[in-house]
Amino acid sequence: MSVDSNRRHSLLSWVFVVVLVVLCATLGAIQYVWIGQVSRAEHERLQGSLRSNLQRLSEDFNAEIRAASAVFSGDLSTTDDMERESEYATRLARWRSTSRNAGLIRRVASVIPEKGNLVFRNLDMESGALVKAEWPAGWSDLRDRITARVQGVAVRQEFGGPAPDAPLLIDIPHFGRGEFDSPRESGWTIVELDRDYMGSNLIPQLLLRHLGDGDKLDYHVEVVARNSPDTVIYDSDPGNHSRATLHADASVGLFEGGFGPGFIRRGPERGRGGPGNRPPRRGPSFENGRGPGRPPGPPNNGDRGRWILSVQHRAGSLEALVEQSRVRNLAITGGILLLTLAAVGALMQFTRRSHRLSELQMEFVASVSHELRTPLAVIRTASHNLSARLINNPNQVQRYGALIEEQSEKLTDIMDRVLLFSNAKAGRVIHSQEPIGVDLLLEEAVAACAKQIEESRCVVEKTVAPGTPLIFGDPTALKHALLNLICNAAKYGAAGGWIGISAGPAADPKSAMVEIRVSDRGPGIPDSERGQIFDAFYRGKVAVADQIHGTGLGLSLVKRIVQAHGGTVVVRSEPGKLTEFVVTIPAAPAEKLNEFADPVNRG
Ligand code: ADP
Repeated sequence: MSVDSNRRHSLLSWVFVVVLVVLCATLGAIQYVWIGQVSRAEHERLQGSLRSNLQRLSEDFNAEIRAASAVFSGDLSTTDDMERESEYATRLARWRSTSRNAGLIRRVASVIPEKGNLVFRNLDMESGALVKAEWPAGWSDLRDRITARVQGVAVRQEFGGPAPDAPLLIDIPHFGRGEFDSPRESGWTIVELDRDYMGSNLIPQLLLRHLGDGDKLDYHVEVVARNSPDTVIYDSDPGNHSRATLHADASVGLFEGGFGPGFIRRGPERGRGGPGNRPPRRGPSFENGRGPGRPPGPPNNGDRGRWILSVQHRAGSLEALVEQSRVRNLAITGGILLLTLAAVGALMQFTRRSHRLSELQMEFVASVSHELRTPLAVIRTASHNLSARLINNPNQVQRYGALIEEQSEKLTDIMDRVLLFSNAKAGRVIHSQEPIGVDLLLEEAVAACAKQIEESRCVVEKTVAPGTPLIFGDPTALKHALLNLICNAAKYGAAGGWIGISAGPAADPKSAMVEIRVSDRGPGIPDSERGQIFDAFYRGKVAVADQIHGTGLGLSLVKRIVQAHGGTVVVRSEPGKLTEFVVTIPAAPAEKLNEFADPVNRG
C-alpha cells in the first residue's frame, strides 16, 4: 500500500472518530434533556396517581364509618322498651353477619330522656340486651351536650375539636313528635368505634388495597389527629423515626364530617328532611406538602377530617424515587454511549492491527521470495555450468557441488522454518520430551550457526554454570529456539564482534528455573521496535533497509517454543552497548528424571 493511500486511510479514520465522538456527545446531551423531561412527567404522574389513590382510600374509610353508623339509623324512637331492645339486637346481628369489618363497632348505647333525666342503656354485645348503666368515663362531654339539647340551651362550642384520645363516638338522634306535632329529638343511639381495630385491621387493609404493591407497601404511612399532629394514631413503620407527617408526599383527611362531642348531628326540625344522621358527604381533602412554591414542612390538609393520613415514599420522597430512576437512566445511557465509543475504538484498533498484519504478510511473501530467489539463482547457474560442461576442472566441479549443497541447505532451512511456524500456529510445537543438558543443547545450537558466526567474525564466549539443572523438553524445538537467538546475534550484532552465551540456575533458587542468555554488542533494538519483534512476520527497519536475510518468523517461533515449555523469553537492549535475550525454562522435575533413569518405567 502506498504512503499516500496510508495517509488517506488514517485521515479518514480520524474524521470518522471525530464525527462519532461529536454524534455521541450530541446524542448524550439530547438524552440528558429528554430524561429530565421524562422524570418531571413521571413525578407528576406518580403524584397524581398517589393523590387519587389517597382520595379513594379516604372515601372507602369514610364509607366504612358511614356503614357502621347506618346500622342504627332510621326509626328507633319507639317508646316500647321490648320493641326497642329487639330492634337493637336485630340490627346488631345483621351488622355482624354482613359487614367485613364487624369489629369496627366497639360499643352501642341508647340514651332516652325520661322525666327530665337521660337514661343510659348499654347494648350487651353478646346477648343483644339493653342494660341500664352508668355513662362510661370519657363520654361526659357527649352527655353534657345531649343534656343541653334536651333542655334547649345553647351548645357550648369546643375550641379545637375533641381531644385526640377521646372515644370515637357517633351519636344518632331519633325523632318523635313534639308540640304541634313537630318532630323532636326523642332519643339517641351512640356508637363507639374501635380505635384499635382501625389501626390493626381497617387502615392496613385500605392501605394495601389502594397503595399496596402485592402484599407490600412502598410508603411509610402515619395517621395523626388533626388538632394534635404529635399524637400518632397509626404508624406503618413504628421502628422508623422519621415522621411521615412532616415529610409527606401527599396527605388526606379521614373522618370527614366529624364524630363525637361537638359534632352532634342535626335533626329534621332544622329543615334538612329525613333522620339526618348520616355524616355529610364531602370529598376528602389532601394537599401535597411539597407542591411548587410551598415551603417544606407538614402538608396543609384544608380543614376537613378529624384525622390526617400522610404518606411518604420509602425512597425518602416521590421526588427522590424519580431522581433515583433519572440517575439510573442517565447511567445506562452514558454507559451505552461509552460502550459504543469503546466498541468503535476497539474496532479501529482491530482494523489497524489486521491492516498491519496484512502488510507484514505482504512483506513476508516479498522477503521469502527474495530469500528463495538467491539460492535458486546460484543453484541454477552452477548446475547449468556443470551440465553444459563449462566446468571441467575436478576442483572446480567439487566447489560447484559444495555451492549447490550449501544453497540447498539454505532453501531447506527456509522451508523448515515456514513449516515449523505453521505447525507452531496449529499448536504442534512439542513432539517428544526428555531431560536435556543445557550445555549440550547450546553446543549443538552454536554448531548449527557456525556459518553465520564465522561470517560475522564474532568471538563466542560460552559459559554454563556448574550444577545447572537439566531441563525437560523437546530437544529439536529447543535447539531451534536457541540457534535462532544465536544466529540473530551473529546477523544483527556482528558490529560488536562478540557473542555471549551463558546458562545457569535462575537467581531465585526456589523457582527451579534455568536461565539462558544470548547477548551481543551490536547496534541493538530501538525502543519503538522492542514490543513488536516477537510478532510473526515482523522485521526491524534496519533489517529491511540493509536487506539482511530473514523471514520475520524467528523470534515469534522462539517465543512459542519457550512458552510451550512453560518458560518465558524477554529482551533487554541498550543500543550500541548490550542486547540480551533471556530465556527462562523450568528445570526437569525429579519424577521425570527418575522416570528417564529407569528405562522400564519409560516404556
Ligand atoms: P528475522 O531475523 O527473520 O528478521 P526475527 O523474528 O528473528 O526475524 O527477528 C525480528 C527482528 O528483530 C529482526 O528483523 C531484527 O530487526 C530484530 N532483532 C532480532 N535479534 C536482534 C539482535 N540480536 N539485535 C538487533 N536486532 C535484532
